[in-house]
Amino acid sequence: EFVTARHEGGESGPARLPMGTGPYAEWFAGRLVLVTGAAGGIGRATAFAFAEAGARVIAVDRDADGAARTAELARLVGAPEAWSECCDVSDGQAMEQLAAKVAAERGVVDVLVNNAGIGLAGAFLDTSVEDWRAVLDVNLWGVIHGCRTFGRQMAERGQGGHIVNTASAAAFQPSKSLSAYSTSKAAVLMLSECLRAELASRGIKVTAICPGIVNTGITGTARFVGVPEGEQRRRRLKAARLYGKRGYPPEKVAEAVLRAVVEDRAVVPVTPEAHGLRLMSRFTPRL
Ligand code: NAD
Repeated sequence: EFVTARHEGGESGPARLPMGTGPYAEWFAGRLVLVTGAAGGIGRATAFAFAEAGARVIAVDRDADGAARTAELARLVGAPEAWSECCDVSDGQAMEQLAAKVAAERGVVDVLVNNAGIGLAGAFLDTSVEDWRAVLDVNLWGVIHGCRTFGRQMAERGQGGHIVNTASAAAFQPSKSLSAYSTSKAAVLMLSECLRAELASRGIKVTAICPGIVNTGITGTARFVGVPEGEQRRRRLKAARLYGKRGYPPEKVAEAVLRAVVEDRAVVPVTPEAHGLRLMSRFTPRL
């Protein structure tokens, strides 16, 4: 199995794989790792952590420039090869095409990190159907498309693989004003657990990562619904950004992702729940 393969090689042994320098290099050197939402935040940090471990990295994002920059930097921090792909994970057809292209050009991915996601905060009664759809399309359908397309390739290859889905502490802790986001993440958590049970016989492991508040751009880019324009909204957005800055460093989440694959963990909370959710409830609009 790919995560237990050592890289001793030798004259008669399998070809020696390139070695990375990170703490998990013996597991990931030479492996093919694809990370979605890799243009920034947790995704970029995760791409770097795999790169440091000597993995070949594919950085996927709908932000083409950001993904290209991640790939460029991944090579600098140790990836023997790194590429970027522009793709909207919520577009099933685009994901099918991406999976076919990756398989043809680079091979079957060993580790898939379905990490792309968007934020939405606001009272349930103020949240439009379009807002619900937008969140579910990226946060849930993006993960479904990733698992379907790349998971099928892993199963067909027959050598196993590992899928890591980024859920959230919000997946198992209800909080006001995050109904759409939390529902999308609870679905990702359940999907991950179902797939873990179902795909085990094919040698495919599945992990759900559940971070609390992490210091990334998401608190600045999340849509806030139901808060009227003006001073109140401006203060709310500023507070969200400030609370985001008090979150965990994304590198800690990235390290947890690599450790979760090595240790084959099912569900991994990354920040203490109370910490993450106390912060979360502070920046979401009060009801
Ligand atoms: P981020 O905004 O820094 O990064 C998200 C990335 O996903 C961006 O580069 C964005 O361009 C990309 N993306 C968004 N929609 C996409 C789409 N349709 N197709 C392709 N790419 C798309 O945020 P982040 O905090 O690094 O978020 C990464 C994941 O972590 C998300 O799933 C998020 O829900 C989850 N998460 C974040 C936190 C937190 O506090 N930051 C906490 C728990 C979970």
